Amino acid sequence: MSTIEIGIRSIQHYLYCPHRWGLLEVDKAWAENIFVTKANLMHERVHNSERSYCTKGKKVFTSVPVYHDQEEYNLYGVVDCLEATENKNGIFIAENEKKYQLCIVEYKPTKPKNQPYHEEDFMQVFAQKLCVDYVFGGDCRAVLYYSDVKKRVELPVKDRYVECNQKVKVLLSEMRKYLEEGRIPAILKGQRCNGCSMKDLCMPSIKKVKSLRLEIEKIVKSEI
Ligand code: SF4
Repeated sequence: MSTIEIGIRSIQHYLYCPHRWGLLEVDKAWAENIFVTKANLMHERVHNSERSYCTKGKKVFTSVPVYHDQEEYNLYGVVDCLEATENKNGIFIAENEKKYQLCIVEYKPTKPKNQPYHEEDFMQVFAQKLCVDYVFGGDCRAVLYYSDVKKRVELPVKDRYVECNQKVKVLLSEMRKYLEEGRIPAILKGQRCNGCSMKDLCMPSIKKVKSLRLEIEKIVKSEI
């Protein structure tokens, strides 16, 4: 395999803020805040294999590792929860000799105010779908579960397949270029920084300095 492996979660980070993604993946920096801690605690609870269960007509698996090792993707990650519901048009599971429709359930702590989902969350789950379909076959559904309102939102992963499949490939190729060159993407114009745990490391409101020498000379002059 000649392309760099990329974690599915990275896609969400890159779309939220490419600069933040670069700090995490190129600089290997890390900082937590209340939002990160809240999400980590929630995922710790979800990623407990003892929570996997079977009921009549349905199987629920938690913390399912998935991947897509074709060169243009080379993605890997863990799905919070994968539900398999008996369906004659689904994929065949030999153990039960029955067919099942798979559905990804991704947990998020907070529902966005004016929209059903954030696009970066959608794309993260779409990348999971590419991996689940690759590993298990079929054409899985996907939902987000918001724990603050205890509600599921169905994601249009099938309707948006062609557009998003292309978008994933473009994003992965951009990310690999930055990784290969060891470069951190610049801060985007209009970047929303509210809630970002890396604010203290990133200092987004500090103005760019054109010449460090000139800046030092200015400081020295002002002190004379
Ligand atoms: S503070 Fe803003 S610009 Fe800096 S990493 Fe966070 S989101 Fe990106």
